[in-house]
Amino acid sequence: MSPSCPVCDGEGFIERPCPKCQSIMEDCGTISDYYDPYSPYEENKLGFEDDYSDECHHFLKCTSCEYQEDYPVRIMEQRKWDEFYD
Ligand SMILES: [Zn+2]
Ligand SMILES: [Zn+2]
Repeated sequence: MSPSCPVCDGEGFIERPCPKCQSIMEDCGTISDYYDPYSPYEENKLGFEDDYSDECHHFLKCTSCEYQEDYPVRIMEQRKWDEFYD
């Protein structure tokens, strides 16, 4: 079982108020939807060098003031527990 982001899986959602105007920000998907997966930017900033990355970066946008933010979501890594008890 591979680790998965609860937000991407539809099991949870991000409800984060905009730091500028307090409106609830809209989840526009993951950062990887917006950047070339092979770009140096993503490798350096997000560290996607393997499947064990424990954060899924979502792109949030405030619908009121256009403020944009990179929001890391903790990924549930069930596989880690299996290894721990092996
Ligand atoms: Zn996600
Ligand atoms: Zn705002």
